[in-house]
Amino acid sequence: MISRGDDETAPAPRPSVSSPAVIGQLEVSDREIADAVAAVEGEMLELLARLVEAPTTLGNEEPGQVIMADAFRGLLGLEPVDIAMDTEVLRSHPAAAPFSWDVAGKRNVVADWPVAGEGGRSLVLQGHIDVVGPASTRLWRMPPFHAVRDGDWLYGRGSGDMKAGLAAMVGAVLGVRSLGLAPLAQVQLQSVVEEECGGNGALQCVLSGLRPDAAVIPEPYPGLIPTSQVGVLWFHVDIAGTPAHVADAQDGFNAIEAAFAVVKELHALEDELNESPPPPFDEIAHPINFNVGMISGGDWASTVAAECTLSCRIAQYPGSPVAELQRRVEAAVARAAVASAYLTEHPPSVRYDGFACEGSTLADDEPLVQSLSRSWEAVSGAPAGTGPTTATTDVRAFIEAGIPAACIGPLAEHIHGVDERVFVPSVVQTAHVLALFVRDWCGLA
Ligand SMILES: [Zn+2]
Repeated sequence: MISRGDDETAPAPRPSVSSPAVIGQLEVSDREIADAVAAVEGEMLELLARLVEAPTTLGNEEPGQVIMADAFRGLLGLEPVDIAMDTEVLRSHPAAAPFSWDVAGKRNVVADWPVAGEGGRSLVLQGHIDVVGPASTRLWRMPPFHAVRDGDWLYGRGSGDMKAGLAAMVGAVLGVRSLGLAPLAQVQLQSVVEEECGGNGALQCVLSGLRPDAAVIPEPYPGLIPTSQVGVLWFHVDIAGTPAHVADAQDGFNAIEAAFAVVKELHALEDELNESPPPPFDEIAHPINFNVGMISGGDWASTVAAECTLSCRIAQYPGSPVAELQRRVEAAVARAAVASAYLTEHPPSVRYDGFACEGSTLADDEPLVQSLSRSWEAVSGAPAGTGPTTATTDVRAFIEAGIPAACIGPLAEHIHGVDERVFVPSVVQTAHVLALFVRDWCGLA
């Protein structure tokens, strides 16, 4: 995920004092919660460093899930359970992202926090274990999968997006448990796979049948609950040319060069989508971003390229169906083809593999948003804002199922870029916010 522009700087943790909880059988002050969470900072940061050093890119998530299962069991004393990725179930579900890769043997790891009473509201705390690749290892100041602390910042791929969030979830529960307290309704911790490529890990967890009263995902949105999120579509354009010796280039057709016209038409579609954004996206200068993230093609410098594939991402506003965007993408590719006699005869094809989701929205007056904002305020001194984001997150799997879900989390920089880093005090701050939220949403005893 990525938030709009640069997020505001996370305020330093500044706990308010002595406003006791009213829900639950036991009153626990903000101060007691703050102290309990601060006391487990070392455990949280150690977990975060271990997670960053596991390069959990797509297909390589398991070492991260081993660490999370270990944290649920070893640090929290809970019983982790697997929710396995199920190819057939996912392939037949209308909200699932299409995928060409093998998910057999992949798992989401979840753990229930034993309930101490009744009358509270249930909750899922979720984070994704998968990270994107380093983009360019050469450009990093240090190896991307080394957790390097420099002052108040911790560097490493996935440090902010979103291993800090996973560590904060664990820190929140560890802090509250250290006070001898437990929730008055089911709280399930979830570490999911495949957020960065389509969201099928979160969907698989929703399909497990658990229907919490809310879900919170501590993605790096400090002080901003992204209540309107775009839908995202991945598509791949396959262009076929005719290879020839470059000495006889006129006998061939270069698939790589043909791709330029396709990209141009896709940017024209992007321009159209940005012409009159509906609220609240009209607050953002350029809400819909199209990206050619990968290109492959050709096999020899002196051979006219026979093939080229563009792997792309584009977004759309909530309320617009995926099929509508697919139609517009295909029309843009077709427009590029009609300008070329060769491509008219050999039209490029569009494949869908990965993200294919609608946008999601959550009302500002949802009790979840109100409560989470108050928890943020209790720690930072100012209520959390709400607004649109030009990215998507796993909240949509819950929202599509009728379960309110929201993000709030630590301050991170350069996610999906180089030298990704997270502001360490904001990790503790996020744990503190989550702990207060659990107290107020679920009740504690
Ligand atoms: Zn993320």
